[in-house]
Amino acid sequence: MNLVIFGAPGSGKGTQSELLIDNLNLYHISTGELLRDHIARKTELGKVADSYISKGNLIPDELMIDILAHHIDEHPESNGRLLLDGFPRTIAQAERLESLLAERGTKLDAVVGLEAPVSQLIPRLLRRGEETGRADDNLETINQRLKVYHEVSHPLRDHYIGKGIYHPINAIGKVDEIQKEILSSLKAKG
Ligand code: AMP
Repeated sequence: MNLVIFGAPGSGKGTQSELLIDNLNLYHISTGELLRDHIARKTELGKVADSYISKGNLIPDELMIDILAHHIDEHPESNGRLLLDGFPRTIAQAERLESLLAERGTKLDAVVGLEAPVSQLIPRLLRRGEETGRADDNLETINQRLKVYHEVSHPLRDHYIGKGIYHPINAIGKVDEIQKEILSSLKAKG
């Protein structure tokens, strides 16, 4: 099974992904983490990525898709058991993902959509910023990330509802209970 975990910044994608990789034996790819790793290693790509991430903007589609495709090909064990976290974020990325998977003989089976009101997201992100020191978890950048999410990423919800593979999940509550809800929603469908 190939899964996407989708939701606004601060909706809990990373936390739920950590549990899903164990529960479903999936191979986790967080595009945000891939980019932060490049920034930490001060690669050329990291410099480019930082110029977007620090402003709360998305990395251009072509670049992001190339990075993802490269990573998938470097990790053939991920084939057919991907958990994509933070990708796709645009309709163009969703379309490219479809062909990328088809070229490798697989497809996207489900999109888990973590849904939470914006009023809950900002305090969560600010708290994470304090706890982890993550540079883009400051109020100015958070506001821009949420704006980008609503304008560019949120339309993916309807895109995947239309394909019949969207699983809406209430992202407010206890971590374990949210995980249970995800697993039962996937089971009910699959
Ligand atoms: P995340 O860790 O998923 O919150 O991502 C952190 C930042 O990395 C985002 O605010 C974007 O700047 C960048 N990023 C991560 N995934 C993508 C993507 N699929 N497309 C474009 N930019 C991305």
